[in-house]
Amino acid sequence: MRDPRYDILFEPVQIGPVTARNRFFQVPHCNGMGHRDPTAHAVMRGVKAEGGWAVVCTEEVEFHPDSDVSGFIEGRLWDEDDLPAHERLVEEVHAHGALAGIELAHNGMASGNLYGRIPPQGPSHLPVSGYEPIQARRMSLADIAELKRQHRRAVRLSLRAGYDLVYVYVAHGLTTLQHFLSPHTNHRDDEYGGSLENRARLLREILEDTREECDGKAAVACRIVVDELLGEEGIERSMIDELFGFVGELPDLWDVMVGYWPDDSPTSRFAHEAWTEEYFRGIKQLTSKPLVGVGWLTSPDTMVRLVRDDVLDLIGAARPSIADPFLPRKIEEGRIEDIRECIGCNVCVTGDWTTTPIRCTQNPSMGEEWRRGWHPERFRPRGSDARVLVVGGGPAGLEGAMALGKRGYDVVLAEASRDLGGRVVREARLPGLAPWIRVVDYRVAQLARLPNVEQALESEVTADEILGYGFQHVAVATGARWRADGVGRWHTRPIPIDGSVEVLTPDDLLAGKRPSGETVLLFDDDHYYLGGVLAELLAGEGKDVTLVTPATRVSEWTVNTMDQTRIHKRLADSGVAIETANVLLSVEPGGARIACVYTKRERMLPCDALVTVTARLPVDALAEELLSRQDEWGEGGVLSVRAVGDALAPGTIATAVWDGRRFAEELDTLADGLPFRREVVRLAS
Ligand code: ADP
Ligand code: SF4
Repeated sequence: MRDPRYDILFEPVQIGPVTARNRFFQVPHCNGMGHRDPTAHAVMRGVKAEGGWAVVCTEEVEFHPDSDVSGFIEGRLWDEDDLPAHERLVEEVHAHGALAGIELAHNGMASGNLYGRIPPQGPSHLPVSGYEPIQARRMSLADIAELKRQHRRAVRLSLRAGYDLVYVYVAHGLTTLQHFLSPHTNHRDDEYGGSLENRARLLREILEDTREECDGKAAVACRIVVDELLGEEGIERSMIDELFGFVGELPDLWDVMVGYWPDDSPTSRFAHEAWTEEYFRGIKQLTSKPLVGVGWLTSPDTMVRLVRDDVLDLIGAARPSIADPFLPRKIEEGRIEDIRECIGCNVCVTGDWTTTPIRCTQNPSMGEEWRRGWHPERFRPRGSDARVLVVGGGPAGLEGAMALGKRGYDVVLAEASRDLGGRVVREARLPGLAPWIRVVDYRVAQLARLPNVEQALESEVTADEILGYGFQHVAVATGARWRADGVGRWHTRPIPIDGSVEVLTPDDLLAGKRPSGETVLLFDDDHYYLGGVLAELLAGEGKDVTLVTPATRVSEWTVNTMDQTRIHKRLADSGVAIETANVLLSVEPGGARIACVYTKRERMLPCDALVTVTARLPVDALAEELLSRQDEWGEGGVLSVRAVGDALAPGTIATAVWDGRRFAEELDTLADGLPFRREVVRLAS
């Protein structure tokens, strides 16, 4: 039963000619599947519709061959050949009573157009974003007319595919319409440049064209940046009042956002829920049209407040809908405690940046709905009466035990320590990572309601015990330990470390140990978040920290979670000295010897302590012993043993959760052939 205080979230909202059944709106979001994996993409969107979202949108969809974003895998609607993929998506979304929206994008100078190779276009002669040696050319009036013609054509194709909402996209720094609107990129002196009215001319014309083409058959949505965060050089919030005087009533829906994509999807380390509110306040009062917006909105109470306070009409969500596609249904059914709340880690974003199908730390079924047949809420029934022992209650063991329990197996989850959660419990205590504990909270709450899963805390189990227990399957999710010998990406063999300097690993720091001296050298050859977070921790506690990394940027891989620049700023602001492109060679009397990775020139850095954030070794002795004693298996005893999560191969928390799910899903079900489905391009005749 729904709590009446959430009733307001379930009111229908009229969006031009269509009606959203409630206020939950999955805004367009990238997914690394796009036009390459159309069925996987369509089915993923269908699951969101099934979960109760009123509107489910595509990601940005290229509609013009002079503007592809190759290097990334997004949607595509160049001509009729692309229609079947879109029809499939619309069908999946409609099957569950939701509206389907398409976000048409002309990326212009935001992309190098590497696939089509036609020089990109923009309002002015300027280099494209990034470092491609490519410049966009200034569009002539004829080019503008052609763009408008192509947009109209794409709208008509969108209607043929069955979309209920068609987006005009002016956001994230990603589209020509924004490039025209922004003084940052529009340096024209004709009727499309100069004053705000002139810079908004192309947007106004395209909105009018889109209205005309939609002609009451679909709603026109406009996604617009309300502050580019560039100061007076760019679009500022203070301009929006005047802008809405020109275009405020043209679309049927305004979808508002702030900044570029890294601003729009900040990690929880750097932003709080509803951080966008200060930018959105007052916009609703500028238009009679409904307003949707995002802001890492994960809590139903915040959603209610934003609607009641007249900030938003519809609750926009990308990440909260990825972590829990069933979020609306759970609120509606009064199952708040079942919500899998987004932790704000941006692992979902890494799929797009690495052009691989979307993944999610909280929701291991994300991107696997069609490929592997995983569902965020439904689990295939167990394949036998086998009893399963899961050893280790970190993210892998928790997810494995929960998924096995939901499949109906009798499970025992044995954990050596007093707490469930493994590394997540410890890492969530680090600066900025508190929301990560939701990975544990969700699973612990689910396990508590599974009578067929027994928990044994403070139970460090041995191979002898396991072989005597009468379990058929054993998942060994015993985690991994950080190395203290310098082995990582750069050094594949231990480096000379004499005893003159105290050496600590992340495990030591996570267990509460601290360097006794003041000067700390942290060698980060892991390149994800942990090295940077630990440097921040130690600097915050007053240590004199130098972070040394062979990469050219601190926390290099966080480019893919879009918080690398924020991490650098925070470390610099915390007083951490940063030595990029340098590698630790040895520790000897006097400190650490480091070398420039380019010149090989060596230097000594005096330090009292060394923290190595390099590589990990799986804690796999238990799995190895069980596997080596196969002669003691059989006859009512053990049939299979598998290391799971970090104990199999150390990785991210997301990978550990996913592997726990994989173990549970594949038990008694793995057939011959490929482990997942894929779509193969058909050869042209
Ligand atoms: P993962 O990320 O793969 O889930 P973690 O390191 O987070 O790995 O968690 C591993 C968990 O396994 C820890 O909570 C640890 O206490 C537990 N563990 C390790 N060895 C044993 C054992 N022999 N018996 C029970 N629990 C164990
Ligand atoms: Fe949220 Fe992380 Fe999942 Fe993305 S990957 S939806 S940020 S929990």
